[in-house]
Amino acid sequence: MKSHYQIIIIGGGNAGISVAAQLLNRNPRLDIGIVEPSEKHYYQPAWTLVGGGVFDIRKTIRKEADFIPAQAEWIRDRTEGFDPAHNRVSLASGGQVTYDYMVVCCGIQLNWHLIKGLPETLGKNGVCSNYSFDIAPYTYECIRNFTGGRAVFTQPASLIKCGAAPQKIMYLAADNFSRRGVLKDSELLFYTGKPGLLRVKEINAALIEICRRYGIRPVYQSSLIEVRGESKEAVMEVPKEGGKETVTVHFDMLHVAPPMSAPDAVRNSPLAVEGDPQGWVDVNGETFQHRKYGNVFSLGDVANAGDTKTGAAIHKQAPIMVRNLLSAMNNKPFSGPGYDGYTACPIPTGYGKLMLAEFDHANTLKPTVPLDPTKERMSLWLFIRYALPWLYWNGILKGKL
Ligand SMILES: Cc1cc2nc3c(=O)[nH]c(=O)nc-3n(C[C@H](O)[C@H](O)[C@H](O)COP(=O)(O)OP(=O)(O)OC[C@H]3O[C@@H](n4cnc5c(N)ncnc54)[C@H](O)[C@@H]3O)c2cc1C
Repeated sequence: MKSHYQIIIIGGGNAGISVAAQLLNRNPRLDIGIVEPSEKHYYQPAWTLVGGGVFDIRKTIRKEADFIPAQAEWIRDRTEGFDPAHNRVSLASGGQVTYDYMVVCCGIQLNWHLIKGLPETLGKNGVCSNYSFDIAPYTYECIRNFTGGRAVFTQPASLIKCGAAPQKIMYLAADNFSRRGVLKDSELLFYTGKPGLLRVKEINAALIEICRRYGIRPVYQSSLIEVRGESKEAVMEVPKEGGKETVTVHFDMLHVAPPMSAPDAVRNSPLAVEGDPQGWVDVNGETFQHRKYGNVFSLGDVANAGDTKTGAAIHKQAPIMVRNLLSAMNNKPFSGPGYDGYTACPIPTGYGKLMLAEFDHANTLKPTVPLDPTKERMSLWLFIRYALPWLYWNGILKGKL
């Protein structure tokens, strides 16, 4: 490992590998180091389908080594500290690396510990989550073994990756219960910290109809604060006139989306938005350049680029960020359009049915497919289940798409 790189990329996930590949496709002589501790690369969007029982978890994982571009150097380490005033990062192994330019894309941190009792019971007692590679298969076990009773799904108020994922699994579960004839003996509850199902009014209205179809009851602006696995009880904070109250809800299955934040190394660094408890990297949301450190860029889940924490958003962000980084390196002003907050949520509303919500920062629909986005379609389901994983491994991570 060298001690200095022209460009250092922190995180070799969806964003890091896409950016490295796109930069090197444009200039193979760039001197790039990628700091990434994991030997494995995960295709996380398919974890919804794993939890729904229609995708093999083993097909969501590949060797990281197969995706680090040949011209880049893989630094198999974890970044522990950032010192942007001195263009330096410190590594878990004790080493330090300096850079001319840095791209921060180390994803999101899952804060399971913020919910009392959750870490101890996750993966047993009917408590599951698609937000973990290890636990997603257990989600399907819970769905498959559900014989009626109460199924509870939760979403925190904070920003999370793929904000629709907590609902996606709920619709697949409801469809599974319906097909097996147990839906009529079930109560499905969705406790969400949000004021609605999705922030785009057309999609929100369509999802309310889907909830009606399955008999799902959303409880808005509520949050999960404790799980008692042995007694199968979830403690929720729910709104009450003039404030909040705590209620204890018995469950037969509980799917949890945990609170999330930037990784601690970022959150506790000078790169984070000042005073933001989630500690996202403080970038200009149109250009991805850091607001204080001009040689630092950030994109993907860790960046403060709005409620757009999806792979679909990265697909739009990466070429803009790459163009701006190359301009900065050539002392040229940024040119071309900035990022408008585009993100996309493919929402399976049942087996073989999918609604594709594409929208921007202003909650305006931005369909790239000329179809009514409020309609459920088999063709989109087939695209997400079969075509997109292939495109991810063979196109997006190679910087070709
Ligand atoms: C259940 C689920 C469903 C989803 N569904 C969809 C979907 O339908 N559509 C969609 O577009 N998106 C979806 N997503 C979201 C999508 O997977 C993420 O938005 C995307 O992976 C973010 O890419 P990233 O590069 O920012 O982070 P990641 O891909 O998570 O990569 C971050 C990398 O940084 C590394 N890292 C972490 N800390 C450090 C450190 N200190 N130093 C160095 N490296 C570090 C990690 O090991 C990791 O490899 C879903 C996610 C989940 C969990």
